[in-house]
Amino acid sequence: MKVEIISVGTELLLGNIVNTNGAYLADKCALLGFTNYYQTVVGDNFERLLKTLEIASERSDILLLTGGLGPTQDDLTKEVVAAFLRKELVLHEESKNQIIQIFQRRNREITDNNWKQAMMIKDSIVVDNPNGTAPGLICKKENIHIILMPGPPSEMIPMFEERIIPYLKQLTDGIIYSKTIKLCGIGESQAEIMILDLLEKQSNPTIAPYAKTSEVHFRLTAKAKNEEEAELLLKPFVKEFQKRFHSFIYTIEESVTLEEEVLRLLRSKNKRLLAVESCTGGMLSAKLVGVEGASDVFYGSMVTYANQAKEQFLMIDSDLLKEKGAVSKEVAYALAENACKISGCEVSISITGIAGPTGGTKEKPVGLVYMACCIDHKVEVVTFQFTGNRNRIRENAVANALIFLRTCLLKSELKS
Ligand code: ATP
Repeated sequence: MKVEIISVGTELLLGNIVNTNGAYLADKCALLGFTNYYQTVVGDNFERLLKTLEIASERSDILLLTGGLGPTQDDLTKEVVAAFLRKELVLHEESKNQIIQIFQRRNREITDNNWKQAMMIKDSIVVDNPNGTAPGLICKKENIHIILMPGPPSEMIPMFEERIIPYLKQLTDGIIYSKTIKLCGIGESQAEIMILDLLEKQSNPTIAPYAKTSEVHFRLTAKAKNEEEAELLLKPFVKEFQKRFHSFIYTIEESVTLEEEVLRLLRSKNKRLLAVESCTGGMLSAKLVGVEGASDVFYGSMVTYANQAKEQFLMIDSDLLKEKGAVSKEVAYALAENACKISGCEVSISITGIAGPTGGTKEKPVGLVYMACCIDHKVEVVTFQFTGNRNRIRENAVANALIFLRTCLLKSELKS
């Protein structure tokens, strides 16, 4: 079945807000196995939205609309869809009562325009919105399903996951089931070359590659009667990927991230990590702390940005800093080594580099980053040369620090 995403809002067209709803829905629809050929962003304008609906209904089976369900004059998605379906808007008592309750709870006065949100398209299914005042709607025009959801992601996402996905699932024969194989330490093109034969003859399951910062994900999607049958279809492909990519694969679990995997490895080795960050200024630590319960193995972090801080907190020799510079293999090494010595942690990682845009030289250009990892008193140093702006360089440094940590931890597993 073909799905089409229509994001409504002039703010989106003006670039005032980023269309994260579009990206979110596209990703979910791919996971659910729906084909998505078109996405439209349209302003809060009656005629243009009506035209969009006419065009979309010619080429797609499911239209997913977000935004424009609010109480103000410019919120007109419901009105346009009603006109498109040639249906009237009728008062929905339940929604009216809900609005009264919400406003009483918030101790706010109801204004006349709030009742607009209790008006629903005749013969549609009203989807309640526990996170806001605008309910969603499911309508049908012959074989076309038109689904209206509120614009704020905090309302749209739970509504989509809890109410719309079950509705969409019952529109398809059988089930769509997917697995994501996540790789790191390998480039996208190299990874693709290694499975070109599988990509060329793919049918069921399909294989979709996705490149993330320093990671490559392959989403395998099977269509089947039930979950067991889908698992059977996917199993030989997962095995084949494992055979071809070995340790480049860090997980085959959709929800597991690289930082979670690094924490899992630390846990399995009963080791604690201290991070020493210079050019990344705590970004690596923030990623690790983003994982719930990290404190059992993530000891902490030291953001030693200035040379003085490196001397003061990590006992880096001022002569070494003068002679080699803060961005050097030697300083990266000393930072990691001293971090373990001072903290008593079994593992440390240091990151020192030139994030730019200024500060680069011929010998040490912008994007040069050294990292050192110390595990059980042994230190390994790596050199990277990243490209892009300051943010990109720092993001790349963080992604590669996680990969470097994982590689060192895996190696130490082999040794011990
Ligand atoms: P409300 O009931 O809050 O008025 P609504 O359904 O009318 O919601 P809009 O008024 O179109 O939605 O948008 C409200 C807010 O939701 C926007 O200011 C924006 O913050 C967010 N939003 C809307 N559409 C999108 C989108 N496509 N992607 C991300 N955020 C969005």
